[in-house]
Amino acid sequence: MSEFRQDATNGRWAIIAPDRGKRPHAGKAAGKRERVDVDPACPFCPGNEGMLPPIIEETPSADAVGWLTRVVPNKYPILSDADGPPTDPLASGYGHHEVIVETPQHDADLPDLPEQDMAALVETWHRRYCAALALPGIRSVQLFRNHGRGAGASQGHSHSQLVALPLVPPRVASALAWASGRHEDQQACATCAELDREVEAGTRLVELTQCFALLAPFAAGSPFEQWIVPRCHRPCFSQADAQERAALAPLLQSALRRLASAAGAPACNVVFEPGAVPDNTERAAHWSIRIVPDLTTPGGFELISGISVNPLRPEDCARQLREAL
Ligand SMILES: [Zn+2]
Ligand SMILES: [Zn+2]
Repeated sequence: MSEFRQDATNGRWAIIAPDRGKRPHAGKAAGKRERVDVDPACPFCPGNEGMLPPIIEETPSADAVGWLTRVVPNKYPILSDADGPPTDPLASGYGHHEVIVETPQHDADLPDLPEQDMAALVETWHRRYCAALALPGIRSVQLFRNHGRGAGASQGHSHSQLVALPLVPPRVASALAWASGRHEDQQACATCAELDREVEAGTRLVELTQCFALLAPFAAGSPFEQWIVPRCHRPCFSQADAQERAALAPLLQSALRRLASAAGAPACNVVFEPGAVPDNTERAAHWSIRIVPDLTTPGGFELISGISVNPLRPEDCARQLREAL
């Protein structure tokens, strides 16, 4: 039996349709991963700096490679700030687009990284996120990683991207407007309230730490979707404190390990939300990281309606993810 579900934190809808999972070929098989140490054709591998635009920054390491993370402008940017902010940013395609190379190792994924290297990556994300927010004329920052070709990655080497925009994207604005309406009605942040309910119920909870809850969301749009939600109300990732950033590194690794174990290492997107906190939305906005596996393909219905169809119940996914390690 199918079920309509609305996300209490952003107003988005999903249809949980378990019978759809019984269709032949529902869900995608995981791609087989080829292991390569250094790829001579990969611009993100050490020694191939000549293939890269000028490096913006690096986190140094004491080993022979000399760096843990590296930030470069995107060679094929969606938007550009090369000429500085113009008078009309929207007319000129103004913005900023950079790549964060997450490790010098060509074949390493985030769960493979030593804990201190993962912590250095979280610090790089945070530093670059704050720097992008401070760029002139910028109103939102999208930080994300596409892992696997099915999720939009064009390079096999582990990396994330940051796109800074001179506008708040409509999808973000409408989620924040929804959250602000809920805050007005209930005099409380919808995500904080939802988190309390999830922690108490436990059925969709995957892991609980001092700083974060890892959970399968009530209205998940995708099988095995997980959210990392800070337990302390903060509107934006830029406001995550040192303790939270340190706690985030192992939890994100845990979430990705659980996903690989429960769902066979699917391609997936990791996105930081909301990416913008327009005026007067601080009390309603509550940042989170969403891990969305590429296990279903949106069809015409999803494109027209904006309603996701998920063939697996989040409660069943949460149980499998809990038991996965
Ligand atoms: Zn590489
Ligand atoms: Zn909150």
